Amino acid sequence: MTIIGIDLGTTNSLVSCWINGESVIIPNALGNRLTPSVVSVDENGEIVVGEVAKERLITHPGKTASVFKRYMGTSKAFSLGTYRFLPEELSAFILKSLKADAEAYLGKEITEAVISVPAYFNDAQRRATKRAGQLAGLKVERLLSEPTAAAIAYGLHQQEPETKFLIFDLGGGTFDVSILELFDGIMEVKSVAGDNFLGGEDFTGLLASLFLSHHQMEQSELSGKVQMALWKQAELCKQALSTGRDCTMTLQFEDGVKEISIDRARFEQLAKPLLARLQKPVERALRDAAVKLGELDAIILVGGATRMPVIFSFTGKLFGRLPANSLHPDEAVAIGVGIQAAMKERHEDLEEIILTDVCPYTLGTSISKSLGNGRYESGIFDPIIERNTVVPVSRVRRYNTLIDNQTAIAVDTYQGESRLVENNILLGELTINVPPAPAGLQSIDVRYTYDINGILEVEVSSVETGEKKVAIIQEKETGLSLEEIAERFKELEAIKVHPRERLENRLLLARGERLYEESLAEQRQVIVDAMVRFEDKLKKQDMREIKQEAEKLKRVLDQIEEFLRLW
Ligand code: ADP
Ligand code: MG
Repeated sequence: MTIIGIDLGTTNSLVSCWINGESVIIPNALGNRLTPSVVSVDENGEIVVGEVAKERLITHPGKTASVFKRYMGTSKAFSLGTYRFLPEELSAFILKSLKADAEAYLGKEITEAVISVPAYFNDAQRRATKRAGQLAGLKVERLLSEPTAAAIAYGLHQQEPETKFLIFDLGGGTFDVSILELFDGIMEVKSVAGDNFLGGEDFTGLLASLFLSHHQMEQSELSGKVQMALWKQAELCKQALSTGRDCTMTLQFEDGVKEISIDRARFEQLAKPLLARLQKPVERALRDAAVKLGELDAIILVGGATRMPVIFSFTGKLFGRLPANSLHPDEAVAIGVGIQAAMKERHEDLEEIILTDVCPYTLGTSISKSLGNGRYESGIFDPIIERNTVVPVSRVRRYNTLIDNQTAIAVDTYQGESRLVENNILLGELTINVPPAPAGLQSIDVRYTYDINGILEVEVSSVETGEKKVAIIQEKETGLSLEEIAERFKELEAIKVHPRERLENRLLLARGERLYEESLAEQRQVIVDAMVRFEDKLKKQDMREIKQEAEKLKRVLDQIEEFLRLW
């Protein structure tokens, strides 16, 4: 039984597997190691994911979805043409495609996976990720925190017997900090902190906003297509500023071209508020782990957005030393999940690292306190499992009735750090009956069990009657029963996915369409001519001729792309 590892990212996803004594990244149908986490529905109602879908973000924004991981665990529906999908369903298409890549590469069916999630993902987000796996036909053996996965990748090659380090993971949409200690083959997560709404995309947003304000435009005035094109230009500019000192962003409008030049210093000035936000989780993680900056042996940067020089200098200043770059920023997490999957399979050629993880949030219930004179203060958060407690963990607390002849006690479960439940997130509700009695004489036990996957179970029992209720926390909005998941699985299964072996040709056409939209007059004609020739060959179905024409089309598109970049 082969278990694959999957890094299901906001921007890019990867799949890995243990082969001949190492964790190997499996390339997709186009030969790439990163698959963009983008899903699109094409003219035939077929699903396309990855590079092809990414091209379609520009040409068909209404039929294409990206960055949906940000909404994981919510009921936000994405409309793609006539379809409507939840974030976990879009994720399922990505997972299916990665599963197919792994099957093609390994030459066998794959049914199990370990999937990584941001350490700071809450209960609902983790459950949604598990459902995405189910919907893709994958049994999710384990959810693993992304920074922990990176830490495993780091730990496997670590020579020091004992080391404390910090993983600073800035991806497309999320930021995670973890402090870990490796000691005698035991990898212990000391603390995690982060921000689920902070990532490389926010830096792209700075450049897009700068462009708009410079030209006195509002985002809402722009069509969906122009907004997407603007975002893409901002992204290219951001990446160009990672290697060069300045960059010009250009955008085609009906009344001509608009542009703005920006240098790295200006960009870094703009980024200051975002950098300030990065600092907070770092401080909290250090505090919770009771670790001083000076005690850290290494600072490890992962996530594509750490390629920005401003992150390198910012972390350098913050920690008073240069961060290590021994891990590949894009691949570390995927390598780590691959290792974890192999440990699940119990490969002999792999020395097991024992892993201890922590719960990222405080979990507790709502209580009322008597203020005397029959007055109460209600809505007070009573923590049962504190954040950064080592998991798995099971904790029980006893609560009493508050008023005479009370016949039931409601147990709400919240996650968060505020003293008042109204500022925390409600995870679920449960009510249990108790025999009538004077106030304070009846009691219930509330047991919270938090497993290694970060999933919570709540058990409530009446002390007197022994009656028990177990809630696998019901998500308020997206909660689906097992039958409903099975039903949805069938529905998704019925939606056709564009065949893997034809993706390469498909990508050329999608790219041609995108470049057509981005260019003008003569270039457009060149693109159309090359595309028409290619489509003719496709119809004739002679493999050799198709291949030749595909190469010609690719050369034309490469030239146009180069031309647009220089322009
Ligand atoms: P995720 O894990 O969320 O999918 P990744 O780790 O793949 O994210 O990082 C994606 C982010 O990294 C994007 O915001 C992207 O713009 C950014 N990024 C990738 N390469 C560069 C680069 N050379 N310079 C600046 N940002 C980059
Ligand atoms: Mg990532």
